[in-house]
Amino acid sequence: MNAFDDRVALVTGAGSGIGRAMAVAFAKAGARVVAADVDRARAEETAALVGEAALAVTADVGDQASVAALVEAAIGAYGRIDVLCNNAGILDTMALPADISPEVWERVIRVNLTGAFLVTHAVLPHMLRQGRGAIVNTASEAGIRGGAAGAAYTASKHGLIGLTRSVAWAYAKDGIRCNAILPGPTATNIADGATFDPAGAARLSPVLALGELMAQPEQMADAALYLASEAASFVNGAIVPVDGGWSAG
Ligand code: NAD
Repeated sequence: MNAFDDRVALVTGAGSGIGRAMAVAFAKAGARVVAADVDRARAEETAALVGEAALAVTADVGDQASVAALVEAAIGAYGRIDVLCNNAGILDTMALPADISPEVWERVIRVNLTGAFLVTHAVLPHMLRQGRGAIVNTASEAGIRGGAAGAAYTASKHGLIGLTRSVAWAYAKDGIRCNAILPGPTATNIADGATFDPAGAARLSPVLALGELMAQPEQMADAALYLASEAASFVNGAIVPVDGGWSAG
């Protein structure tokens, strides 16, 4: 018997990095996995890695119609959603508040914060019907400090922590738990093709130099697996740094 036998896990941003590691880890633990990503090829690659127990769905978490279709596909295929990992996220340009463009602000908030809200909002009715559910949000060290990223990313991850606490509090008596992990720097594709604002990057350079504390995506997946499992049955509203001690300093 595996910890997640008969469970269904929906992971957003499952086509790469931390989300891919989560999809693989939940499947290894017995779950059927809905691997959702805005990039179809990446979602399909992850589903192929997982094998029979995975369904790849192309979905943009920042788009309400796309999210509705994602949740419909998950329920259509498996009939339930026990675990939701709101993991899809994008970097900002490291721009400071005076320099960030409204377009970058809007895009980052839409994917990192509104995206998590839209998926949670669409999945909650199913979890409430089931009387059971665990949500794990991928926030960031930038969710608890002001100097770990640019203004938009920082605000989006602080907001995601607020959403985590709101959901945890609201549904504590309904069998639904909601927690967040705060990854430190992790070896993924998130910075591929990124262009950084020079002034912001200069101020944030101590953070960018944190390479020696670089984690592997599987270390984030392990933490998410714990928070979604029965071993964490009374852990609700927890904001969990998974950063090798960076936030302890
Ligand atoms: P990644 O770029 O390797 O993977 C992110 C995936 O999300 C990609 O496959 C991308 O296609 C997908 N995605 C982007 N926008 C999407 C959208 N609108 N809808 C659906 N999917 C979308 O990056 P990662 O590092 O694995 O990032 C995962 C999460 O971890 C993010 O929320 C990120 O903010 C967070 N995080 C990462 C680090 C790090 O150092 N890598 C640190 C702290 C937090």
